[in-house]
Amino acid sequence: MSQSQTRALVLFSGGQDSTTCLAWALHNYDYVETVGFNYGQRHVAELECRTNILGRLRNEYCYSEEKLGQDHMLDFQTLYQISDTALTSGAEIKMTERGLPSTFVPGRNLLFFTLASAIAYRRGFSAVIGGMCETDFSGYPDCRRDVLNDLQAAVSGGMDYPIEFVTPLMYKTKAETWKLAFDLEGGDFIELIKNDTHTCYKGDRSALHLWGYGCGECPACLIRKEGYEQYIAASNSK
Ligand code: ZN
Repeated sequence: MSQSQTRALVLFSGGQDSTTCLAWALHNYDYVETVGFNYGQRHVAELECRTNILGRLRNEYCYSEEKLGQDHMLDFQTLYQISDTALTSGAEIKMTERGLPSTFVPGRNLLFFTLASAIAYRRGFSAVIGGMCETDFSGYPDCRRDVLNDLQAAVSGGMDYPIEFVTPLMYKTKAETWKLAFDLEGGDFIELIKNDTHTCYKGDRSALHLWGYGCGECPACLIRKEGYEQYIAASNSK
């Protein structure tokens, strides 16, 4: 690898947003690697999805090892030990007194970015890319750009290594994220996102809807469904 090559590490969960981010990174950086975290999610569907998606990008989209490199999978059960949320325990998904969904895992994205930055430092990468989105319904505080700016400054300072946290979906609606996926890789990639990415909080992959697999009722399914319908409506009106 030459010194002038741009290199980025993508936080890749196997969901719709991080899969779109990965495609965006492949179009915007010379070389890309991925990182995923196993932290005792109550469904393993996302983790299986990420393996499938990486395989398809390599085989069907012809991203070679020189372009889409190593996948780093970190076992992060510690997060499970310190969390008691609907995403990692069996609890029901509901809004909490703090106005956040019970799926909020406190500090999760802060830890993900920090751990990914340590890998980026070791690998000589200048950027960590994540699919966080302020316009998302959830209002997770550690998805906000101002919080990530603060963390980026702290991590860069703490490692004495300039690292950029890049969030291409930050101000996009879900419909715009579907559109971005289409613009990057075309209609077949929309099908890949429908079939191979996973978003449902309940880990339900029993039924394939127009917008993909899921229970169709949890907050994550509803926002994915609504975004897809808006994307199709906007495409048809042109
Ligand atoms: Zn669902």
